Amino acid sequence: MRRFGTCRSYKSGEILAQAGKVIEGFTVILSGKVDVTRHISSGQGRLIITHGAGSFLGELAQLAGRPALVDAQAQGPVDALVIPPDRLRALLIAEAELGERIMRALILRRIGLLEEGSGGPVIIGRAESGEVLRLANFLRRNGHPHQKLDPESDHEAKALIERFHVDPAQLPIVLCPSGQLLRNPSEIELARCIGLVGPIDPNRVFDVAVVGAGPAGLAAAVYAGSEGLSVLVLDCRAFGGQAGASARIENYLGFPTGISGLALMGRAYNQAQKFGVEMAIPDEVVALDSRTNSDQGPFVLKLSNSERALARSIVIASGARYRRLAVDGLEKFEGASVHYWASPLEAKLCAGQEVALVGAGNSAGQAVVYLASQVAKVWLLVRGHDLASRMSRYLVDRIAGLPNVEVLTRATVTALEGHDSTLEAIRWRQGVSGQEVRRSIRHLFLFIGAEPNTDWLSGSGIIVDKRGFVLTGSELDGHRRSLETSRQGIFAIGDVRAGSVKRVAAAVGEGAQVVTMIHASLANSGPPSVEQTQ
Ligand SMILES: Cc1cc2nc3c(=O)[nH]c(=O)nc-3n(C[C@H](O)[C@H](O)[C@H](O)COP(=O)(O)OP(=O)(O)OC[C@H]3O[C@@H](n4cnc5c(N)ncnc54)[C@H](O)[C@@H]3O)c2cc1C
Repeated sequence: MRRFGTCRSYKSGEILAQAGKVIEGFTVILSGKVDVTRHISSGQGRLIITHGAGSFLGELAQLAGRPALVDAQAQGPVDALVIPPDRLRALLIAEAELGERIMRALILRRIGLLEEGSGGPVIIGRAESGEVLRLANFLRRNGHPHQKLDPESDHEAKALIERFHVDPAQLPIVLCPSGQLLRNPSEIELARCIGLVGPIDPNRVFDVAVVGAGPAGLAAAVYAGSEGLSVLVLDCRAFGGQAGASARIENYLGFPTGISGLALMGRAYNQAQKFGVEMAIPDEVVALDSRTNSDQGPFVLKLSNSERALARSIVIASGARYRRLAVDGLEKFEGASVHYWASPLEAKLCAGQEVALVGAGNSAGQAVVYLASQVAKVWLLVRGHDLASRMSRYLVDRIAGLPNVEVLTRATVTALEGHDSTLEAIRWRQGVSGQEVRRSIRHLFLFIGAEPNTDWLSGSGIIVDKRGFVLTGSELDGHRRSLETSRQGIFAIGDVRAGSVKRVAAAVGEGAQVVTMIHASLANSGPPSVEQTQ
């Protein structure tokens, strides 16, 4: 390990890590003792562990040089070996056996913090508020530890609100580890504050920029990164894409007992970082352009925050987004009562209640199976005349065996009733008769398919089909590489590509395949110009 780091000495009481601040690197203790503590909401520290010689300080944040989630202080004189993030990644790859142990420890430490809900920002607001759910979901989907405190039931939260003179109408507030207080922030504001995302170097030209960190984008990033290409991945929300919303993926090769989409995608995200892939999440791409007017790169990605990123090739992996139901007033219930995911957060809100779910595909089926284990009853509203025409047999059979699920066919939601953002009842028509029914239900789940995320491509010259999916390969002409779009050096993979199989395995396969085409394309476009390497 000494080949990868430099030795440092610390005096007794010296701080080695401070929550919210970037530390020098992964730190191996050579002699002495270091206390690692975490903040609790009252502002005090609680001891997690005392490390001695042979142990190391660090968790996943150190892999990408992000701010620390805990504090660490020398207890007496300490000698240590400090390994900066790029050298740590080199170590993980060069020393496979040691690398595996370290990587496992980094992941397990992050899981420990996530399970305890410690080490990250504190969200203070009503537990059932849609805004609290939005922020908590965002952090959960990005694998970032956090705590939620409800001032109605938690006296510490109440005290914090009084201390910061916060008007209840301004809730939720978020206390970041750096000490900053945010009032009902956007996801991007929160991400910036906790150091999840930083500015992109506007002059650096990456070999590949991947738009979208779903299974397709992450696969492309892992294969491109492991083959030595410089890679930037941008995603406007979180890593994992739609797959990150899947309660249990049972048809992905190699996981006979199934795996949650978030766990599968979390592994891919960490793997990509191990290979030095730069992540810009959340960062939204709003346009694709060329710096020159030629068909070739370098290409320019314009971001919603007015930043830009340059790359010699682009992979469009922006997937698809959930379709919304055409029913009056839907927007006002989104967040608190209308949901597009069925994660443990939503399940907790609905515990012991009746819920309605609209949809008939596999994603709907998975959500029904999961929710049925958490709620009193699931009303499954299917527009067609049976469930089996769009859903896999194993899910249809499983749903048939659930006593608390009632499947209603030829069913259409006609109205939503409620106050503010809280749904109180749903009306629907069902069966051949089209009889209208009203039920008191506070939570509605929608799983009614997806549309391609290609708005950002308008004006870019990328040809899409009439539904907006990107055309590639032989769909355009006989000479193109199979995943290449109408512009050379720009590729499309996964759900966003016209004709693709809408499955995790297919998206991952295309992510692996596209890297060979990128190599060929980069070789044709010649070595990076002097300007490009500046
Ligand atoms: C609930 C659910 C359960 C599912 N279960 C299964 C299953 O069990 N098995 C299976 O095989 N498949 C399943 N699927 C389908 C599978 O998840 C998708 O086929 C797969 O995720 C597609 O991957 P992708 O990377 O192409 O796109 P996506 O997963 O859609 O990812 C695209 C990413 O691009 C980002 N993005 C979009 N626009 C922009 C922009 N302008 N700037 C920056 N980022 C952008 C999005 O935020 C998103 O993260 C399920 C889908 C859902 C919704």
